[in-house]
Amino acid sequence: MTVLASPLPPGARVGILGGGQLARMLALAAARLGIDCHIYAPEAESPAFAVAAAHTIARYDDFDALAAFAQTVDVVTYEFENVPGATAAFLAVRVPVAPGVAALETAQDRGAEKTFIAGLGIPVAPFAAVSDLASLEAALGRIGRPAVLKTRRFGYDGKGQTRIVPATDPAAALAEIGQQPAILEGFVSFSCEVSVIAARGWQGEVVVYDVPENHHEDHILKTSTVPARISPAVAERARAYGSQIIAALGYVGVIGVEMFVAGEQVIVNEIAPRVHNSGHWTMDACHVSQFEQHIRAICGWPLGTAERHSDVVMTNLLGDEAAHWQRLAAEPGLHLHLYGKREARPGRKMGHVNRLSPRQP
Ligand code: AMP
Repeated sequence: MTVLASPLPPGARVGILGGGQLARMLALAAARLGIDCHIYAPEAESPAFAVAAAHTIARYDDFDALAAFAQTVDVVTYEFENVPGATAAFLAVRVPVAPGVAALETAQDRGAEKTFIAGLGIPVAPFAAVSDLASLEAALGRIGRPAVLKTRRFGYDGKGQTRIVPATDPAAALAEIGQQPAILEGFVSFSCEVSVIAARGWQGEVVVYDVPENHHEDHILKTSTVPARISPAVAERARAYGSQIIAALGYVGVIGVEMFVAGEQVIVNEIAPRVHNSGHWTMDACHVSQFEQHIRAICGWPLGTAERHSDVVMTNLLGDEAAHWQRLAAEPGLHLHLYGKREARPGRKMGHVNRLSPRQP
């Protein structure tokens, strides 16, 4: 495993696996610091290509292309958690990869992730591994209903999960998630969903942003509002859990940790080992955005402040909502971010807006 020996100077090159909007916003932030990005993605129409110094169109299992990519970059990062383990491991012996392979592997498997978090003494929903109908029935006997059945791998935006209520036939629930290895989770009756966006550098230094409150529609993030309507004690607890997780993972870069709030309790749901949609508000409401923070962290620069100067509501523009760009661009105090995607499919993340207001004491 290669580590970063010394800070990368301006002119250095960051490699990013994945070419979506997160890679695009990372490349824009890097460019401002004089750092070039080389995007590696299989899709010819990747939104990040237009703003990056270089790109490679190749599959994640094309090891010749990966070897050539590794030779052109000083550090590799990624914008999505489903980077194949073999790809990350292949790169990690050639060039520093941040966040590291161990953090990636933990976050890729909901079973390993929940076990790791619970092992830190941090509350998670009751859960059990499910491999077939017998283990699902045993898990339901222990955890009860309602519950949520989730595939261990490759779940996002509500995909690969189904709710089990008293009337649900367990066999039908297993069929719905494609009979894949899964975990059963007790249903958390939460008052709100929040997340913690934190960053950690190669020397172990950590910064943590304020806690956004997140609203989903059809399992897709719709808004993040800061400050969240939670007590200072709950916010502090959430931030402390985020710091504990990022340190225990020995992580380098920005992490997103999704959590449920139930009364005064904070329950961790999942880890995203990357910049996170619920951190997009930092682009306009903070001195240093999550994207710049990630580039600083992986390049060995001093971390920036996570201080927030404004209150903010971030709203995702999904599907054809970005067609209203003229009206949005005319709205005073609104910050518009469009991802340059050509086709607006329903639910597709096309852009986001940040609406700022003066920070309340
Ligand atoms: P996830 O894919 O784990 O992020 O879940 C997507 C969404 O499903 C979450 O943001 C919650 O709104 C809901 N959800 C997931 N797990 C649970 C749970 N154990 N209890 C209640 N709601 C859940």
